[in-house]
Amino acid sequence: MALSEQELLAKVPTGLYIGGKWVAGSGAPIRVEDPATGKVLHEISNATAEDGLAALTAADDAQAAWAKVAPRERGELLRRTFELVRERSEEFATLISLEMGKPIAEARGEVAYGNEFLRWFSEEAVRISGRFGTSPEGTGRMLVAQRPVGPAFAITPWNFPLAMATRKIGPAIAAGCTMVVKPAELTPLTTLLLVQTMEEAGLPAGVVNVITTSTSAATSGPIIADTRLRKITFTGSTQVGRKLLEQSAQRILRTSMELGGNAPFLVFEDADLEAAVNGAMLAKMRNIGQACTAANRFIVHESVADAFAAKLGERMGALKLGRGVDADTTCGPVINEKARENMQRLVDATLAEGADLVVGGESGSGDGYFFKPTVLANVKPGSTILSEEIFGPIAPIVRFKTEEEAVRLANDTEYGLVSYAFTEDLKRGMRLIDSLDTGMTGLNTGLVSNAAAPFGGVKASGLGREGGLEGINEYLETKYVMIPDPSL
Ligand code: NAD
Repeated sequence: MALSEQELLAKVPTGLYIGGKWVAGSGAPIRVEDPATGKVLHEISNATAEDGLAALTAADDAQAAWAKVAPRERGELLRRTFELVRERSEEFATLISLEMGKPIAEARGEVAYGNEFLRWFSEEAVRISGRFGTSPEGTGRMLVAQRPVGPAFAITPWNFPLAMATRKIGPAIAAGCTMVVKPAELTPLTTLLLVQTMEEAGLPAGVVNVITTSTSAATSGPIIADTRLRKITFTGSTQVGRKLLEQSAQRILRTSMELGGNAPFLVFEDADLEAAVNGAMLAKMRNIGQACTAANRFIVHESVADAFAAKLGERMGALKLGRGVDADTTCGPVINEKARENMQRLVDATLAEGADLVVGGESGSGDGYFFKPTVLANVKPGSTILSEEIFGPIAPIVRFKTEEEAVRLANDTEYGLVSYAFTEDLKRGMRLIDSLDTGMTGLNTGLVSNAAAPFGGVKASGLGREGGLEGINEYLETKYVMIPDPSL
């Protein structure tokens, strides 16, 4: 039988998870809010710098033994967790929707997507391989092995509370690394439920430790500065990523950085317009526009720009704002009041810079942080909104005349995470693969994320890849061994 919201919340642990035990944090409790009502959902522990270092000690103590555990066994821990999360997917989806605000259908999608990283890396654990060969001089053997990097520190954002955690926990566990995980203070509950589930699946003490904190910088700093830490893996804003890279530079730490985006969404004159609008809804409105992969700039050929704006406006205007857990909601709130104020600032600035409002443009009613899905047409190149990560339900449309101009506009950003392009011309599609300067491209689709694919960006969008064959390499070091061999 399905749990009520209260029963589900009562099930979520409130402590820090350190060395296989749930312990109380030393700071004042953190109150986790429902962004659709502004009401407190749950109170959880707050880690101080001392608690953070205790978590690192637990991870470091467990590292040597965990690296020796057979790859098959590491994989099976992930597989068992995958099965448990699948059985409880409705609980995970409801919790994600409650703390983050996304519609329940999308939260179910996140559970399926996020859980897939556990299955994918359960299969990758046994495929870590090396090389063995003869030196060019013929005097010795050369052996190349892959070893776990060592204790890792994972910092995750609030927008995909499950998927951002599994994308890091999956490969780290598979590679033989122990870790400290610090979820975002706005949506920490899903990570706590996940680790409780891993515990049930047989997680050995100290292999994954979780600290929730309202003092991210003060609690993370000493962990990063500690010589026992060997790796930092971060998903979040470029601004915070830069700070963490500066701190990591002092230690020459291995880093993986999944940072902000400013995705261009190109619609050419030969595009299938219906498919482009469907793709736009997915790429813009997934997570209420609060995704690093969110289409941030619609760059549309002048011959179809008006029709595209009208169709997109119709679809955006028809979305129903509400609490994510209510079945008829198709658009939830943005994460907090600051985010909502930022939406209004961006709309007002873009209109003042000469754009036309097609639909939306203002806050929704109710106590939560609602902002109406918004389409802005005829946005002038150079407008403020085009250079910032919007992170909300606003679609600005810019017009272009030639493919060259479209590509120039698309690449005119410090970011380079993902781009989308809609065209029925195969040759143009092939040219765009090369000319769009992003780590990922969706060609005639608004969705690229897949556990089997290398997710990541270029330029200020980050370093490294998560998922795919590449994902596990972020947690492995190459070790080369020379063995003189007189028998050769
Ligand atoms: P954020 O950078 O504000 O916070 C991310 C995490 O870092 C949180 O856990 C936060 O508590 C922590 N943090 C903040 N300051 C810190 C500091 N000084 N030291 C240590 N930790 C610190 O980002 P957010 O608002 O949670 O998430 C939104 C951002 O994340 C957007 O920019 C989005 O594009 C990006 N994002 C990127 C990807 C990707 O894969 N590239 C995926 C999701 C989100």
